[in-house]
Amino acid sequence: METLLLKIGYAIVLIGTFIIRYPHEKRNRSNTIRVDKKHTLEKILLGLVFLGMMIIPLIYIFTSWLSFADYVLPNSLHILGLLLIIPTLWLFYRSHKDLGTNWSVSLEIKDGHQIVETGVYKYVRHPMYTAIWLWCFVQILLLNNYIAGLSGLLCFGLLYLLRVKKEESMMLQEFGQEYEDYMKRTRRIIPFVL
Ligand code: SAH
Repeated sequence: METLLLKIGYAIVLIGTFIIRYPHEKRNRSNTIRVDKKHTLEKILLGLVFLGMMIIPLIYIFTSWLSFADYVLPNSLHILGLLLIIPTLWLFYRSHKDLGTNWSVSLEIKDGHQIVETGVYKYVRHPMYTAIWLWCFVQILLLNNYIAGLSGLLCFGLLYLLRVKKEESMMLQEFGQEYEDYMKRTRRIIPFVL
């Protein structure tokens, strides 16, 4: 399939996720933070994710600097990548909407923080991370380049692995039994499976 079309597909994900997140980011700026676990490692990992999912893809989209690392995929996988944009953006949107004022880009507990267990949070504990995993697969399928295609999975994979346990223990510390019960009822990323 035409590389330009695939690049446009990825640009739609970048623009779409920005549009979805921006109003939440703006509204939540005024929240008072009660517990802040945003340590140096977490900041470095967030920077890596920004690099791997935004900066490197944009370099690939607008220059030919990375062309030495291109790979070829069959059209069927390109179509799959384009189709996956829809559940990625939908889940990214729904998880932000369901989490509302409790959302933050890092590990924080705000004044008046409440556990969300409804909407998509009824099915998995980390639907926003599910959406971002999907985004990483879209990146691999649409940006056919060993650097620009894989950088998202590597950087987000690292953030996820180092963050998810810390996030859950922060929630457990804060909400105790209520979060423990919620954990018993739900899986992390894929309903009933993972
Ligand atoms: N891991 C979740 C949320 C990511 S945003 C997801 O993937 O959907 C990260 C912030 O969300 C954390 O700082 C934490 O305070 C908050 N959070 C995570 N799970 C939550 C829940 N079930 N209810 C309320 N806040 C939650």
